[in-house]
Amino acid sequence: KPTIVLVGRPNVGKSTLFNRLTKTRDALVADQPGLTRDRHYGVGRVGDRDYLVVDTAGFDPVAKDGIMHEMARQAEQAIAEADVLLFLVDGRAGRTPHDEQIAARLRRAGRPVHLVVNKAEGLERAIVSADFHALGLGAPLPVSAAHGDGIKQLVELVLAPFPEDEDVEDAAEKGPKVAIVGRPNVGKSTLVNTLLGEERVIAFDMPGTTRDAIAIPFERGGRPYTLIDTAGLRRRGKVFEAVEKFSVIKTLQAIQESNVVVLVLDAAQDISDQDAHIAGFVLDTGRALVVAVNKWDAVDDYRRERLKEDMARKLGFLSFARFHQISALRAEGINGLLKSVDGAYAAAMANLSTPRLTRTMQAAVAKQAPPRHGSARPKLRYAHQGGMNPPVIVIHGNALENIPNSYVRFLERTFMEAFKLQGTPLRIQFRTAH
Ligand code: GDP
Repeated sequence: KPTIVLVGRPNVGKSTLFNRLTKTRDALVADQPGLTRDRHYGVGRVGDRDYLVVDTAGFDPVAKDGIMHEMARQAEQAIAEADVLLFLVDGRAGRTPHDEQIAARLRRAGRPVHLVVNKAEGLERAIVSADFHALGLGAPLPVSAAHGDGIKQLVELVLAPFPEDEDVEDAAEKGPKVAIVGRPNVGKSTLVNTLLGEERVIAFDMPGTTRDAIAIPFERGGRPYTLIDTAGLRRRGKVFEAVEKFSVIKTLQAIQESNVVVLVLDAAQDISDQDAHIAGFVLDTGRALVVAVNKWDAVDDYRRERLKEDMARKLGFLSFARFHQISALRAEGINGLLKSVDGAYAAAMANLSTPRLTRTMQAAVAKQAPPRHGSARPKLRYAHQGGMNPPVIVIHGNALENIPNSYVRFLERTFMEAFKLQGTPLRIQFRTAH
């Protein structure tokens, strides 16, 4: 799944383009209470293809000193971890010396670069082209991020060289692809070593390039799993170690490659913004999720109580996920954790029959009808499944545009309970007949 990185000097419209590219297919899931977002990282989707978008807004790749230097370092890291770069310039301002500096840097990036001219609505194409062609990055692509012009064509062009996703049927035989993620020092490597140490590792792919996600197939309790290497967790001899600096982008890439995410938290620490951002990103991608509260052996009762309150307050939006108290170091709670991984995977990949979905929906409406909006009474007619991992339920009917979020939540809960879909988020989409 490709990673698209946006680069450009300030005020060219990177954030606006970022919002366009990551506009959730389902605005209804976007306002989960308590959900923290990091506006630099997002997911997007065209057709049935996912991609990751990184906005380097504020990370100027040519700055030389102070805080700007740190941002430059982050931009460098994003450029190094990109599959494709979008270099955004301002069509109204014209080519500037700063654009030329960035262009010089990007010509050496060794990645595909697309030159995107923003704010191009109403501009004379030939003039804009001639001006920016001089940056030496090929033909400029005019868009208007604010108006949405040219965005669809841009995404299609950018994604065209990347392979399509693996077939769901093929993938199923290899068992769940599991990403073990979390901030540094929560115990990810320890957990991976505990998981793999007790059982045979079937095969091991050597890293090709640092960019490739590394998949390690293993078996436990006679069931196959594939572990997705993350954030610099690399095998050194017999054990896994964090050999690189923690990388948000690699964490997000691993989440996107996976079917089930195990989010590792440290019981000795309060929930941090970084924990909540990773969790929010998991929710954006719709991956199944199990939370492992690690180092449970190292904390006393007082701390355990405090942590529970902290999690309820900061991670309340993860109510669909199971939480496990574990000790990776002492190999405690591991079987229970894997059981939840299996359960979450089964829920994410479940086949939901149309008649049962429709009956469940009708029973929900009988119990609590959707509220009237003005003179229109929403009418829910039938439901069918529109996707997996996460399960998508498509509801057809009339006047469905103004169904309030609270009612969508009620429907979600009803479907979750009826189909026992613990461990995966669920998406509901409405299709109104006109
Ligand atoms: P990573 O950066 O997330 O991969 O974290 P590591 O696996 O390297 O662990 C960080 C530190 O926490 C190491 O000193 C581990 O020994 C320790 N640690 C990991 N799991 C546990 C646990 O279950 N209990 C305790 N008490 N310490 C742990």
